[in-house]
Amino acid sequence: MKYYSTNGKAPLASLEEAVVKGLAVDKGLYMPEHIHALDWSTIADMKNRSFQEIACIVAEAFFGEDMDRNVLDEIVKDTLIFDVPVVHVNDGIYSLELFHGPTLAFKDVGARFMARMLSYFIRKEGLDKVNVLVATSGDTGGAVANGFLGVEGIHVYVLYPKGKVSYIQECQFTTLGQNITALEIDGTFDDCQSLVKSAFMDEELNRNMKLTSANSINIARFLPQSFYYFNAYAQLDRKGRADELVISVPSGNFGNLTAGLFAYKMGLPVTHFIAANNLNDVFFEYLETGEYRPRPSVPTIANAMDVGAPSNFARILDLFGKHGDAYQQICQLISGSRYVDEEIASIIRTTYLDYGYLLDPHGACGYQALVDYPLRKGETGLFLETAHPAKFKMTVDRILDSDIVIPDKLQAFMKGKKQSVKLDKDFTTFKSYLKGI
Ligand SMILES: *Cc1c(COP(=O)(O)O)cnc(C)c1O
Repeated sequence: MKYYSTNGKAPLASLEEAVVKGLAVDKGLYMPEHIHALDWSTIADMKNRSFQEIACIVAEAFFGEDMDRNVLDEIVKDTLIFDVPVVHVNDGIYSLELFHGPTLAFKDVGARFMARMLSYFIRKEGLDKVNVLVATSGDTGGAVANGFLGVEGIHVYVLYPKGKVSYIQECQFTTLGQNITALEIDGTFDDCQSLVKSAFMDEELNRNMKLTSANSINIARFLPQSFYYFNAYAQLDRKGRADELVISVPSGNFGNLTAGLFAYKMGLPVTHFIAANNLNDVFFEYLETGEYRPRPSVPTIANAMDVGAPSNFARILDLFGKHGDAYQQICQLISGSRYVDEEIASIIRTTYLDYGYLLDPHGACGYQALVDYPLRKGETGLFLETAHPAKFKMTVDRILDSDIVIPDKLQAFMKGKKQSVKLDKDFTTFKSYLKGI
């Protein structure tokens, strides 16, 4: 199968090219030329299958034309080493807990899958070592670093703003060693991101080394996220709650929601999607007005959703056809909601006191969007709980006046020795560092 660019001005790419490059040369995002629908009988039978089996079926539909089935199954099995349980919260609302992976964030799924697929292509083609550059404001760095840890043929450089990520988050990518190097940049997240962008555009660097990125623009990172939508459906089906499903997704760059839309296009029966936002509400505004106006992000307590120009918006438009009634189709299937920090705090408080369920600030937006939708009789609501609340311990403790327990998995990172390379935010310094590695 070939992959085209959403900007339509780049040559078609093979799966391998799309994964190794990340972004197309016209700066568009890669999309598969076809989305293979699954038979209804296959979807209905998923309630009798394990998460790994379900994921293998979905992966086969995306990548089966280009990869040997056994290799693909191995990659899927090696990716999904943890559960994603559906947990009942109240009345008709369920939480899809995506935070049981190594760094307690949903990004673990995509990061692990991409690392394994990329490594396979590197070995198959005998490519030189690939260097992954990733700028992080917190969560992405940990998931990517852990997903790629120990994976042959790849070295990861995590650029993070000095003093601006939480202690727990910093530990998740500075204590690993091996093929992971943390670069502590004396600047802001935007400085880190512009260093990465400059490196990708620097001809001299790219002549001498292979550079790629690992954020949700990469198809190998965002497509595997559709696995857990099918698995959630199977879990609800077992409970007799899979009819008239409304799915709410806390959104930042919209990779997670887009993966859900791919699942829908493959035949997953979903009645409606909701994109839950914080104060960064460009998508909400698009649904209200039909106009898309990206702008700089503003900081909130749900900071992984602080995105002012969601990169996967181009994919959503493309999925519904760029012309004509795309806007109408999108509005019919997806609604939006928006919560400010005070509302998020109050959602966390009341959900904990009334139902004993502890939400993180991102999941809180997802949960409340279902309450406010509002769900009708017969509908089941499912929100994606994208991170473990302990990852946002300071915020959650302040809101609940609590001292929540940090899971062992997180504590383990905090015991490691922090190692980082300190650099200033100047591109010349960064470039000479890269030339020296
Ligand atoms: C990355 C992230 C999001 C946003 O996901 P997108 O795919 O970028 O929309 C939401 N919540 C948490 C906890 C995250 O880490």
